Amino acid sequence: MTAHADRLEAAVRARGLDLLLVTELVNVRWATGFTGSNGLAVIGPDTRTFVTDFRYLSQSAEEVPDFRREIASADLLAGALKTLPPGRELRVGYDHASMSVKTFDHLRELAGAPIELVPAGGLVEELRAVKDPDEIERIRAAAQLADAALEVVLKRGLAGRTEREVALDLEVEQRRLGAEAVSFPPIVAAGAHGALPHAQPRAVGIPAGTLVVIDWGCRLDGYCSDCTRTYATGEPSDRDREVYELVLAAQRAGLDAVRPGPRGREVDAVAREIIAGAGHGEHFGHGLGHGVGLDVHEAPRLSTTGETELAAGMVVTVEPGVYLPGEVGVRIEDLVVVTDDGGEILSGLPKDLTVVG
Ligand code: ZN
Ligand code: ZN
Repeated sequence: MTAHADRLEAAVRARGLDLLLVTELVNVRWATGFTGSNGLAVIGPDTRTFVTDFRYLSQSAEEVPDFRREIASADLLAGALKTLPPGRELRVGYDHASMSVKTFDHLRELAGAPIELVPAGGLVEELRAVKDPDEIERIRAAAQLADAALEVVLKRGLAGRTEREVALDLEVEQRRLGAEAVSFPPIVAAGAHGALPHAQPRAVGIPAGTLVVIDWGCRLDGYCSDCTRTYATGEPSDRDREVYELVLAAQRAGLDAVRPGPRGREVDAVAREIIAGAGHGEHFGHGLGHGVGLDVHEAPRLSTTGETELAAGMVVTVEPGVYLPGEVGVRIEDLVVVTDDGGEILSGLPKDLTVVG
């Protein structure tokens, strides 16, 4: 993870900071490679310090070999500040976006007068948005595993099983194929329940002749996947087919708009205009997509407020949906890598409306 720490050091310099305290565990993992549950890092020009507790003595030696490693007692922040040169004036960035007020008060007390604490939340997240080839391969592997798990589950059919049975089956099948975990609890939502974008699977049988939204993903080597498909359990009605084709057209247009340059909101608008043009603007209430990496939802956002410009190496979802309250919902989601001249889709399952028994 030296490459990540180097990028972070450059960003720390560019912000006019002497050091950055990395306290969010997922950011610590990204910056150092440490996979344990308690650790923080201090990074700056000529500084690479990693602080953890005694349980991780040997694990950190293995995972964080290029950092100066400190074992602190209960208080990692105190352990980190002890490593700073005493009495020197330093501008130290901290994660004001996620640090609790209580922890910040403690940090302020520990830091004392010569240290200026500078809000720097979001700095690591911004860098994390652009993946290196190794990270992209891990996300690709997670996406392929998730696809394979759903294929197995679909062979057992949908109609007649409960949403919860299918969701559990999907969790277990992903684990069986080698996933560390699910990246989020799967959504399996039939008929009108599918009109809730974040529906929770119910102990209710899936009927024949309806649409079923399945949104699922797994975590492999720390990296997440995220995908949605909507299936029919029998010949779909004209209305259901129409909604499906509309969402698919919007999704394809959104995918075509993925390339370096446009802002998140501009890609969102491409898909949103198609859905609005068909009179369903108010039935697409969420953003078009989000970044995926160590977290299943991370920067950048593809939404009406997404200002980040897409750049090569970003991995984002494109997932428009149309939700008719009390009737039906359709969402189609793919995971895409932004390449130098477009996008490469990592999700492999077909998207033409498929009837599953
Ligand atoms: Zn999803
Ligand atoms: Zn998603």
